[in-house]
Order: sequence, then structure tokens, then C-alpha cells
Amino acid sequence: MEVAAGELFLIATPIGNLADITLRALETLREVDLVAAEDTRTAKKLFSRYQIKTPLISLHDNSSVKRLADLLKKLQDGEAVGVISEAGTPGISDPGYRLIQLAAAAAIRITPLPGACAAVAALCASALPLDSFYFAGFLPPRSGPRQRRLESLKEIEATLIFYESPRRLNATLETLEKVLGDRPACVARELTKIHEEFLRYPLSHLRSLGCERNWRGEITLLVAGCDLESRNRDPQTLLEEEAKLQARLADPEFVKDYSNRDLVELLMTEFPLLKRRRIYEIVLSIEP
Ligand code: SAM
Repeated sequence: MEVAAGELFLIATPIGNLADITLRALETLREVDLVAAEDTRTAKKLFSRYQIKTPLISLHDNSSVKRLADLLKKLQDGEAVGVISEAGTPGISDPGYRLIQLAAAAAIRITPLPGACAAVAALCASALPLDSFYFAGFLPPRSGPRQRRLESLKEIEATLIFYESPRRLNATLETLEKVLGDRPACVARELTKIHEEFLRYPLSHLRSLGCERNWRGEITLLVAGCDLESRNRDPQTLLEEEAKLQARLADPEFVKDYSNRDLVELLMTEFPLLKRRRIYEIVLSIEP
């Protein structure tokens, strides 16, 4: 295969099973001038398995501006540079983004070489809806920002995908159940490895399993999206939404700049479970 000069190749590598690499990825890794790897030790294992001798340098989130500038210069001078992360697809909860941005801004050709990605592998076997999904990556480690992030995902109807460490999984399951309700979910563990396992249960059951076992290995967590249809029919949820809407309208700073009509438009996006007519009635019921 002919590798064009001055090109950035984003090369997916295995997420466990070293055989999960494409022929094109192997060819490209052999033919580029240089491979920038998140972890050069992991890269060396892959290179030794496939007799790849291409020079390696490290590229991670804390890489210096100089390292990025040097790589960009090489690309501008016509070199072909491959990027690999420790596992899976570069840039997906992994380093690579800054170089991708710089290369795009410098009009360098960027070529993705698709392959393993834990999120996609977990999703396709999770038995959760596949028609639309939302990749949420790692949640913030601190509880306040974590809770706020989950609140912001609450109304999403697509299957939610998270990366999580085994150490934090129990706490995450608990917060997920608290914020999102007891939804169908799946813990996808050690994908493509000997102990690969899919636990397809509601969040409450996964949480109780977590009390009995010590989670180990690499984990991708999937949760069914919000079922707006059935939430629409739940009178308790509707009452809660109406109470939140009333509280919002009680803030004079919020209402003062809008006409009733504009308020209704705005609130329809903020309260998707409530019907337009009901929002209008509540807006009219507020004393000027
Ligand atoms: N770039 C990678 C990808 O394309 O999937 C993800 C890198 S991210 C730093 C690592 C996280 O991905 C792990 O903490 C775990 O949540 C998930 N992950 C990676 N490999 C996995 C595997 N074999 N099984 C389950 N989850 C995995």
C-alpha cells in the first residue's frame, strides 16, 4: 500500500485481544515514518507481535507544546505520521485531539483507520437499543460535577455509554439509579479478553451485584435512554415537572425580559415532558 507523504493516520489498535487489528492498520504502521503512541511500552508489545520496526515517540495529554509543534512540522515537511493510543481508537477518551485539531488547521490530510473501540463493541452486544446512542465517556470524578453531568443526560432518549473504572463502578451505579431511575443497563467487562462478560440487568440489580463482588478489569457501562413516552404518562413525573416550572416562573429576573409567547417557547425546550397548552396555562396563571 502506498502511504502518501504529509499525512496523519489515526490508527485503531486492539482493546485486549491482539488479533483485533486490521490488515490496513498493520500495513500503515509499517510504512509511516513515525508512530506517535500514548504509551510506547504497550506499542512495543504490539510492534513486537507484528514485527513492526517503525520509530516510536510518545504523545499523551501532557505532551509539551514543543512535541506537538515538532510533529506538526514533520507533517508539514511531508512525513507520514501514525497516531495510536494505549488501546482502541485514538482520541476516544484518549489523547490525539490536540494534534488532530492542529493538523486540520494546517490543512494536513487526516485519515482514520477504523477498528476496535470499547464503546461500540459494548453497545452492539448490550441488547440495549442500538438505533441511537450517546457516548458520555468518563464521568467527572467529583460527586457534585458528576451529579450535574448526569442530570444533563436525564432526558436523552438514546442509549448512554460510559467508560468507568472498576473502583468507582458501585458509586456510579448508585448515582445513576438515583438520578436516572431504575433503567435497563449493561456492564460490559473485559471485552475481547479471556474473562469477557456482559451483565444485562436493571441498574438496581447491578448495584446489588456490586455489593457482592469486587469489580475488576476494564469496564464499559451502558444505560437505556430516557423513555419519554412512558414518562409522559406518569402523573407523578408530570406534577414534579409542573412544580419545577412554577418555581422557574417565580423568579422575576427570569420572566421580566420575555413576552408570554416567548416564555412558552423557551420553557417548551426546558420542560419537554409538558404539553405546550399546559405550559401556556401555567404561564398565564402567574400573577404579573
Ligand atoms: N480509546 C479507547 C476506545 O476506543 O475504546 C478507550 C480508552 S479509555 C482511556 C479506557 C476505558 O475504555 C477503560 O477505562 C474502559 O472504561 C474502556 N475499555 C477499554 N478497553 C475495554 C475493554 N476491553 N472492555 C471494557 N471496557 C474497555
